[in-house]
Amino acid sequence: MGEFDLIARYFTRPTPRAALGVGDDCALLQPAPGMQLAISSDMLVEGRHFFADVDPAALGHKALAVNLSDLAACGATPLAFTLALALPRVDEAWLQGFSQGLFKLADAHGCELVGGDTTQGPLNICITVFGEVPVVDGKSQALLRSGARAGDDVYVSGTLGDARLALEALRGSIALPADLLAEARQRLERPTPRIALGRALRGVASAALDISDGLLGDLRHILKASGVGATLDTSIAIELLAASAHPACAGGLFSLENQLECVLAGGDDYELAFTAPASAREAVLAAAHRADTRVTHIGRIDAAPGLRLVDGQGGAVDGRYASFDHFG
Ligand code: ADP
Ligand code: MG
Repeated sequence: MGEFDLIARYFTRPTPRAALGVGDDCALLQPAPGMQLAISSDMLVEGRHFFADVDPAALGHKALAVNLSDLAACGATPLAFTLALALPRVDEAWLQGFSQGLFKLADAHGCELVGGDTTQGPLNICITVFGEVPVVDGKSQALLRSGARAGDDVYVSGTLGDARLALEALRGSIALPADLLAEARQRLERPTPRIALGRALRGVASAALDISDGLLGDLRHILKASGVGATLDTSIAIELLAASAHPACAGGLFSLENQLECVLAGGDDYELAFTAPASAREAVLAAAHRADTRVTHIGRIDAAPGLRLVDGQGGAVDGRYASFDHFG
């Protein structure tokens, strides 16, 4: 099968919303009046971002999900995406699975594949997504990293750390009961982009980003961009690990340090971390309710720079969480 047959067969579908989709030198999108385009790219490289033997449908899902997650973090509504693909060989079973996983998520968000590039080479997937954000009275409604202010609350969506747990289990550094591994693996391989929450937080959140590299590391981006610091409550954070409710976990399967490391430094969760003024607490809960997404208040923004961790009583947690290496 040649390059053009491959594109026609697996990556060409009707694009009713785009002015022009796959097949010409450019795709054409018509931005709606009063809207700004939000654009983001993410690349997934075999061995670095996924295992060679991962289910291709899960990979198709994840490749788009990590991109949609960036739109979610900006409060943007997905419109379209392009797909640049390097494939070592034409493997039709793989292409079938990959495109199915990709389009299932694309359809769920009304996001159309409008173009791309296909070449022979080591497996590499690069997607660029296009979304839209309203401009009201000349002001973009996009959620940025730079808007956090001292006194704001810090929130996280969904659950955190389970993707890291799955990664450690797949690497062989910990052993998980089968049911727990299956759940954690879902979180690693099929992250849920928080599009509905991002949109609901427009005009409510003061800053937002999506968590791809771990809560502490990513939150620092908000702190730096906003020129502030933060204090997080580790006794609340620990409850963000879905696996911590599992009997094996409660029974001491792995230490509290391991659990906290997953939550605070895990990565690959694609949840949103965001800030909002304390006066917006009810609005945040209403947004979470509208988006049908759990949000947890885990800390506050301080004027003093730096990131501080405290226990449930507000006492400083010692430096053992400053750098993580509990999995060895
Ligand atoms: P060009 O030679 O102008 O780069 P190509 O021959 O690479 O164009 O691609 C032909 C058409 O197929 C273009 O519209 C391009 O956007 C689209 N296309 C190529 N690869 C993909 C892909 N993996 N997914 C979707 N569309 C693709
Ligand atoms: Mg090309």
